[in-house]
Amino acid sequence: MSRIEEKFLETFGEEPDLVAAAPGRVNLIGEHIDYSDGFVLPFAIKDRTLVAARKRSDSTVRIASAQRRNKVVTVDINQVKPGLKGEWERYALGVLWSLGVKDGVDLMIDGHVPLGAGLSSSAALECSVATAMNHLFDLGFNLEELARLTQKAENQYVGVPCGIMDQSVSLMATQGSALLLDCRDLSTKNIPFDVASSGLELLIIDTQAHHALTDGGYAERRASCESAVAKLGITSLRELTIEKLQESSALLTETEFIRVRHAVTEMKRVLDCVDALSASDFEKVGQLINQSHASLRDDYTVSCPELDTAVDAALAAGALGSRMVGGGFGGSAIALIQASKTTETIKAIEKAFSQKGFKAPRFFTSLPSQGAELLSRR
Ligand code: ADP
Ligand code: MG
Repeated sequence: MSRIEEKFLETFGEEPDLVAAAPGRVNLIGEHIDYSDGFVLPFAIKDRTLVAARKRSDSTVRIASAQRRNKVVTVDINQVKPGLKGEWERYALGVLWSLGVKDGVDLMIDGHVPLGAGLSSSAALECSVATAMNHLFDLGFNLEELARLTQKAENQYVGVPCGIMDQSVSLMATQGSALLLDCRDLSTKNIPFDVASSGLELLIIDTQAHHALTDGGYAERRASCESAVAKLGITSLRELTIEKLQESSALLTETEFIRVRHAVTEMKRVLDCVDALSASDFEKVGQLINQSHASLRDDYTVSCPELDTAVDAALAAGALGSRMVGGGFGGSAIALIQASKTTETIKAIEKAFSQKGFKAPRFFTSLPSQGAELLSRR
């Protein structure tokens, strides 16, 4: 029996019907543009969240997480609606709600994606539960539908206005590739991203910084993009080019202009990065990653001293490229480095953090991994 099956048995007294898993993600490039109908280029990391599930014959939902001391939360499925108070379990209950589950179920969660590190443990949790429910109740949703429904759970049930990227990549990623995702229609293309055979490594640096601003800051950035869209009379920033933006600059406030400039230039960088990857031109990939960071720091202003320190130290230690990833104001940065320089780069970043009196960062490396899957079924 696997660890999660044992935990399920210990907690609920029976064996689960099935076990599903979904990974966290890192976005190589294309930051803060999923909600502007842009392109993004994330990949799934090896760390994932497992869920074991069992059907019940009544309307009770019981749910526990190994990361929450296995404490069981019990609720009637008929009460599972937005507005129901709760804590972490809302991420899972929101998925039951958005998928239209009407029956009772027992759920045991065991997550290996670091929580709140910008690696999207929230999407890993939602997508593992969605995958489990889709199989357990034969719901028949395809991956695009599951992406929309898990996003709906986070937006409307948990109340976090996230875009569609995290859930899409957690569900649709394939091993050895980054996922080019068109956030307008959710069409995808696997882009081979073979860092290992080029002697490279992707270092993930969790700064462990969480600046309180996060939620308000994210909403404010989205609002700027939305007001710019309205003023420019377009349906999304996807329609804009940098030339058109410059011609219409008088219509926008200075803040709207620089926010939109980030979005428009970042969309182009994603497509340039796909070309660079196709040509295995990792120098170019590194430059694009650096430009992305500069744009997020200076135009979108979502970086913070810890993220900038990580990026600068990685580059000083010889990284090909480095940038903040995720929402910003803390969380993680990535660095594309020579695999042989991993230890040296980690030491350089640790030193820069201690010199500035920052809490020590955590480091992870990950090759592009597989998306959500059913692991076992009785
Ligand atoms: P991120 O998605 O970057 O990790 P979020 O703040 O969006 O950060 O999501 C983290 C939250 O998701 C946690 O605070 C918790 O509520 C919930 N969560 C994620 N994974 C688990 C888990 N394995 N067990 C319990 N809660 C989890
Ligand atoms: Mg999240």
